[in-house]
Amino acid sequence: MTRNMTCIGCPMGCDLIVEVENGVAVSVTGNSCGIGKKYAETEVAAPTRMVTSTAPSDGGGPVPVRTRVAVPKDKIFDVVADIKATVVKRPVAIGDVVIEDAAGTGVPVIATKAVE
Ligand code: SF4
Repeated sequence: MTRNMTCIGCPMGCDLIVEVENGVAVSVTGNSCGIGKKYAETEVAAPTRMVTSTAPSDGGGPVPVRTRVAVPKDKIFDVVADIKATVVKRPVAIGDVVIEDAAGTGVPVIATKAVE
């Protein structure tokens, strides 16, 4: 089976052609660097995404946050729901953990901006 996908590794957005056998990427073409090959292999085997959002806070406006690492793609909506249901206590510094385990993924959510 052949899958076409666009690499999201950088703004070039290379068009990838991926040959898949038994759920494994056996050939990747169209990539301009190794990141594209790795992206295609991961996308076929177990797709993941970083989640960036904002969480409500106890001091007024929302706090920008993101997952520390990528989470399984099928958990994105659960992670966003967890973020939206969490009230962050101010002040926060960049990198502070605001959720220890987002939606049971084991991945922390961290602040991406210092907020007084
Ligand atoms: S394959 Fe490399 S150059 Fe092409 S979009 Fe992905 S990261 Fe960018």
